[in-house]
Amino acid sequence: KGLKKYFPITGGVFAKRVGDVKAVDDVSFEVYEGEVLGIVGESGCGKSTTGKSLLRLIEPSAGEIEFEGKDVTKLSNEEMRKMRRDMQIIFQDPYASLNPRHKIEKILSEPLIVHGIGTKAERKKKVQEILEIVGLPGEMASRYPHQFSGGQRQRIGIARALIVNPKLIVCDEPVSALDVSIQSQILNLMEDLQEKFGLTYIFIAHDLSVVKHISDRIGVMYLGKMVELASNEALYEEPLHPYTQSLLSAVPDPDPDVRRERVILQGDVPSPSNPPSGCTFHTRCPKAMDVCKSVVPTFQEAKDSHFVACHLYTKEGQEPATTDYYSKS
Ligand code: SF4
Ligand code: MG
Repeated sequence: KGLKKYFPITGGVFAKRVGDVKAVDDVSFEVYEGEVLGIVGESGCGKSTTGKSLLRLIEPSAGEIEFEGKDVTKLSNEEMRKMRRDMQIIFQDPYASLNPRHKIEKILSEPLIVHGIGTKAERKKKVQEILEIVGLPGEMASRYPHQFSGGQRQRIGIARALIVNPKLIVCDEPVSALDVSIQSQILNLMEDLQEKFGLTYIFIAHDLSVVKHISDRIGVMYLGKMVELASNEALYEEPLHPYTQSLLSAVPDPDPDVRRERVILQGDVPSPSNPPSGCTFHTRCPKAMDVCKSVVPTFQEAKDSHFVACHLYTKEGQEPATTDYYSKS
């Protein structure tokens, strides 16, 4: 709730703080147990920073992160370490995230050791089991990361997150670094695991086509803000935010009867160190109005459980620039 992560920009001989990169700027959302919440947006929109902040792998600048009734931001290091058993992450790059000098056996037993799970023999058995669960032969535990393909390494990354029996996994673009031919295998595996173990995923991707199949709900981020949040069906069938519309018009629809309005964006994503005033999307929005340049649109419920931050849907007489995402409950 109200999650912010600002990175200071320093300048001059005294390295004074001259500004901030507002990587995540007042983002609020909920994740329900057992669901897959997709989060999409272009690179630099703050989606990975959001995901890592939730696990406090990056310390948020402001906001509350509630997990099973506890405010994660107020936990001591020791409490946080325990909590991480329930909240795991799968990283984007399966090459960088596995230590090349360690055998898979060691890489996968490490989280068990950290959380004091099992005897040495039990851990060895568990490593073999988890490898089988992610579709690799158990005896591969004696190999090194370089002996695996990219897809296999990501299976190992998934196994490492899964081995401690987490409840929530932040999946930070887990297929972006893989060949397109491998992506669907890994997506199918992740979907099977989610169902089999009743996992909750926050599934981050830069491409709407990646999250379409797996997500129950989808949030769209732009320049550090959540601009739309809706059920999968609602987002695809009736995207409200012009940015979502533009992302969707770039995704080919397999159904030839679906004709989407092509929304072409002008220019590049502005710098998050100097975001545009008002609606930060106004510099690229084909539907921008005068009000968009000066007034920040509220993230509000435009339809049943369909949230959007855009003046096209602002209710008359509403105070601008307030987050009323939570006021309905
Ligand atoms: Fe476009 Fe204005 Fe809506 Fe922003 S608030 S998305 S500029 S119409
Ligand atoms: Mg599912």
